[in-house]
Amino acid sequence: MSEYGFETDAIHAGQEPDPTTGAVVVPIYATSTYAQPAPGEHRGYEYSRTGNPTRTALATALSALEGAGDGGTIITSSGMAATTLVGTMLEPGDHVLLPNDAYGGTYRYFARVLTGHGIEVSSTDLTDPDRVSADIRPATKVVWVETPTNPLLRIADIGALADIAHDADALLAVDNTFATPYLQRPLALGADIVLHSATKYLGGHSDVVGGALVTGDPELLERLAFLENATGPTASPFDAWLVLRGLKTLAVRMERHCDNAEAVARWLADRDDVVEVFHPGLTSHPGHDTATAQMSGFGGMVSFRPDGGPDRAARLSAGTELFFLAESLGGVESLIEVPAAMTHLSVEGTDLEVPADLVRLSVGIERVDDLLTDLDRAFAASA
Ligand SMILES: *Cc1c(COP(=O)(O)O)cnc(C)c1O
Repeated sequence: MSEYGFETDAIHAGQEPDPTTGAVVVPIYATSTYAQPAPGEHRGYEYSRTGNPTRTALATALSALEGAGDGGTIITSSGMAATTLVGTMLEPGDHVLLPNDAYGGTYRYFARVLTGHGIEVSSTDLTDPDRVSADIRPATKVVWVETPTNPLLRIADIGALADIAHDADALLAVDNTFATPYLQRPLALGADIVLHSATKYLGGHSDVVGGALVTGDPELLERLAFLENATGPTASPFDAWLVLRGLKTLAVRMERHCDNAEAVARWLADRDDVVEVFHPGLTSHPGHDTATAQMSGFGGMVSFRPDGGPDRAARLSAGTELFFLAESLGGVESLIEVPAAMTHLSVEGTDLEVPADLVRLSVGIERVDDLLTDLDRAFAASA
């Protein structure tokens, strides 16, 4: 464990000045291979699919932030590449328990790719531990958790689910993309694997696609590192460098994301033309107490259903100026989208289907008054 605080580790862990030049920023080691003094006597790096110093720096930093202890981090080319790596641990006949509200691509991979390889998949309400106990099977190898979920911002009790999964000899994998380690540390709560889409808050500037798996278990790390080297979903040094640059400011960005999202959520909740607001910071949210217990803030995401149905949701989301109408989330700029028509199209007709009139906001770190004015205008224009 590092002796320093989160903000310090984000800037210093794995990021010592370059030993040859003293450069204070970890260089982009743009190399595919490494010269060896004698056959087999490498200096820790042989080939960049297997290892690269820029990627190592990012892995070391993220391990410190997630509290990986004796374990470590695998950096991948995307969040889905990280998900796929977990999938490659499974064998025909194994079962995966998924949330009934999750990132659409996660569901698509498990339900439409892995099932073709003989792996069984089912989904359940992870906010209800009794349901999870009932739906777990002898063949369950992985319980997959997202909390807060995308896009309904449901909250699952990570500690309770870790106990249930471990009683069944299954691994608990937590997609920590929405919370980031600044707000939530799943390994300390009992999770075996933490997954990130580094594309989102870790990178934080909407300029890179990346992913990561973090574990506190050295054996699991070795297995995942073997699978990464064997299958090749590695991130490029440049992409790892971009994520590392973003990571340095994660703490200050998350503070502002949380403040702005909470202000937007309250503002929406006060409006007569909003049917429902989803944000774990609202005391009316059913997961508010669990979120308060396991998170140190509620994150930058807010979803809501405007009065007027799917047509109003579509007009409203096309009518903002500062909130760009776009998929993805977690960047400094605010985004707005309609999940049913965009990010969550692939779960249409499944039990993960989301309300057609749902609007999802990724609240950025702009001046909050400007964001509220932007939304207010879009509400008026779409009425
Ligand atoms: C975006 C996202 C993913 C997938 O990550 P990519 O980097 O797009 O491959 C997984 N989980 C969540 C919660 C996400 O938002």
